[in-house]
Amino acid sequence: MDTIVVALGGNAILQKGEKGTAEDQRRNIQNTAAQLAGLIKEGYRLVITHGNGPQVGNILIQNEAGRGKVPEMPMDICGAQSQGMIGYMLQMCLRNALRKLGLDMPISTVITQALVDKNDPAFSHPTKPVGPFYSEEWAQERMERYGETWIEDAGRGWRRVVPSPEPKAIIETPSIKSLVDQGHIVICSGGGGIPVVESEDGSLAGVEAVIEKDLSAERLASSVKATSLIILTDVNGAALNYRGADETWLGEVTLSKLAEYYHESHFFEGSMRPKVKAIMRFIEHSGKIAVIAALDKAREAALGQTGTRILG
Ligand code: ADP
Ligand code: MG
Repeated sequence: MDTIVVALGGNAILQKGEKGTAEDQRRNIQNTAAQLAGLIKEGYRLVITHGNGPQVGNILIQNEAGRGKVPEMPMDICGAQSQGMIGYMLQMCLRNALRKLGLDMPISTVITQALVDKNDPAFSHPTKPVGPFYSEEWAQERMERYGETWIEDAGRGWRRVVPSPEPKAIIETPSIKSLVDQGHIVICSGGGGIPVVESEDGSLAGVEAVIEKDLSAERLASSVKATSLIILTDVNGAALNYRGADETWLGEVTLSKLAEYYHESHFFEGSMRPKVKAIMRFIEHSGKIAVIAALDKAREAALGQTGTRILG
């Protein structure tokens, strides 16, 4: 049976303009779960990973609103909280969707750590904005008091930025693998995994950073030896000259051609670029099908019939 790693974009959980109420998230996840259940019915084994940007953003706001009343949690713990919250909603909605199709199989969420290199150059150049916008006074206080990095964002206010290091390995790979081998549907590596660094003696510690979930999805897919990596998002794939006059959407493409486009900077940093990098890496690591496609085309994507795809 083929194992597929499906990476769900933010739109699988929240649509643009929604606030992120429990109801909003449940409704979107119900729709997503129906798509995924269809794939499971086809006979694929699924390992599901997902983004967590808006959810962690809201947890950070809750943290600050509670300042002085309850202790503030560091980002790694906020990441773990978001994995549990989204994992729960996916577990329940997927179980309900499978039952509608007459299927019943175990579904497990694994809280996942992703190993990053403490010497990753990203640590000296924080680039990933997290949380809401604040006043300059607030930003100055955080910079002085906690040594955080904040940037002024095009007149919209001040926002914290954190490093976005490369994921090296998924710490929970053995657990994930054995669950998959036992027939579980596994939800893991949410938000790209909780970034941890390893010290000389082998002990791990969480760090204040955010990993691109697409890059961790590749590490996950390659380490569980999945046949396919399917990245589902809010567009039909990757385009050349995106939003330009001669915008061209890519369908099936070779690894070398996509690498050329990658180096020509067609794909924006922080959104499409990590997805393209992830599918190229997956094929380089012997993956068979690597696709970037729209969320509502999950089935065609798994068959390698839609989206921007490399067939290895
Ligand atoms: P996700 O939550 O799925 O990771 P992202 O916002 O990170 O979503 O990435 C998807 C977005 O990438 C699209 O909505 C699109 O605006 C943007 N994007 C940037 N460059 C490109 C490109 N070259 N082709 C298509 N989409 C692109
Ligand atoms: Mg993204």
